[in-house]
Amino acid sequence: MFHYSSIEQYHAQLQDATASCVQAVEHYLQQISSCRHLNAFTEVYAEEALARARTLDQQRAAGKPMGKLHGVVTGLKDVICYKDHPLTAASGILENFRSIYSATAVERLLQEEAILIGNLNCDEFAMGSTNENSVYGKVLNARDETRVPGGSSGGSAVAVQAGLCMVSLGSDTGGSVRQPADFCGIIGLKPSYGRISRYGLIAYASSFDQIGIFGNTVPDVALLLEIMAGADEYDSTVSQQPVPPYSSLLNAKKKYRIAFLEEALNHPSLDPEIASGIRKQLEQLEAAGHEVKAERFDLLDYIVPAYYVLTTAEASSNLSRYDGIKFGHRAKNGDTDLTGLYKMSRSEGFGKEVKRRIMLGTFVLSAGYYDAYFTRAQQVRQLLCQRMNGLFESYDFIIMPTSPVTAFRAGEKLEDPIAMYLADIYTVMANLVGCPAISLPLFTHSNGMPFGLQVMANRFDEVSLLRFSHELLS
Ligand code: GLN
Repeated sequence: MFHYSSIEQYHAQLQDATASCVQAVEHYLQQISSCRHLNAFTEVYAEEALARARTLDQQRAAGKPMGKLHGVVTGLKDVICYKDHPLTAASGILENFRSIYSATAVERLLQEEAILIGNLNCDEFAMGSTNENSVYGKVLNARDETRVPGGSSGGSAVAVQAGLCMVSLGSDTGGSVRQPADFCGIIGLKPSYGRISRYGLIAYASSFDQIGIFGNTVPDVALLLEIMAGADEYDSTVSQQPVPPYSSLLNAKKKYRIAFLEEALNHPSLDPEIASGIRKQLEQLEAAGHEVKAERFDLLDYIVPAYYVLTTAEASSNLSRYDGIKFGHRAKNGDTDLTGLYKMSRSEGFGKEVKRRIMLGTFVLSAGYYDAYFTRAQQVRQLLCQRMNGLFESYDFIIMPTSPVTAFRAGEKLEDPIAMYLADIYTVMANLVGCPAISLPLFTHSNGMPFGLQVMANRFDEVSLLRFSHELLS
């Protein structure tokens, strides 16, 4: 019986021939089929994954050195391009679309011999916090099937949570990796903006989007980051900074300077049990010799509005390419004139939440309202960056909850989009300022659901972030 605990341990099993890549893939295909009702996958590449596993087993037997991700069974959120495979962003508008190239991140995984097992369900165009806005229907949280897995990368989180693959990729524009990791009890990392190329990631809000990683161990997550990160001639926003070998830098123990934000831990929307779990953790860190201090942060209530103004503005522009002409769904009865065809195709193809955001984004960019909304939100972003830069001069990490509550019940927030948006209060900050952040599965609520600790570090200080995470989870 195949059992997975980490990439390192799997590779040891492959080397002493107590497991094979074929056995691993067969195991996951079996798990996927017995968990079909969770609705985590939108496509499963069964034959192809098995064929690749066979090839890898043969190459290993013939003495070929193993790639760093040799045989690692990986799932991809359905917003990341994989050449000649379906790509829909869980939207009707991309029905039957296939990628014509692979994302840089995907190319790099393949070069290191990962096995891509399938596409994972998500909220349409990564807009949402529950994975209920999907043309494929909702995803269930494996810990309690009456609850949502979080979003927008809900399928990616459940695939790791329920043991349907070893690691998975998601995208994080405002929390879509960290919040589902929090709701599902696994690790979710959003790297610094510009750490991993966005080439081949479907754009939602380009100045916020970043590919993120789900896993069960920090070494697994660190290894994937080190493979995918780094300069890419296809994305001019990706950093040229050299990529440290994250996975081999995890073991140094240090005493850190840690801040928490009073306003965040006293916020009225925060579940008291989550607040006390985090406060206890902070006390333990102090007892262990780290410096822990409270900071005032009076900007907290501005961050969700600023995030929704700026991201919807960017989305309204990014999503204008889906017009039913070059590609995507084309309306049958929209042939009155060109504008009529655009309107019909987009009305039929997009779901309700995506339409809401395109309209909101168009409104905040319109001539009469631009200064009142878009300019002001940019000013808030600027203030946040200044404030956070100041904090990171004095501290290594800022600790916060990942989400104010544990996983919602299915349907609970659907009729109240504002309530759903407000629950992003703790995650959107890292995207507004571009710093890395991770959700670590450290707690269980008395309602039986897991919740995480969110740690944020200065831009491009993933080394410290991952080291500290490793220490907390070991
Ligand atoms: N919940 C947030 C939103 O709906 C986050 C989305 C994301 O990170 N892709 O915008």
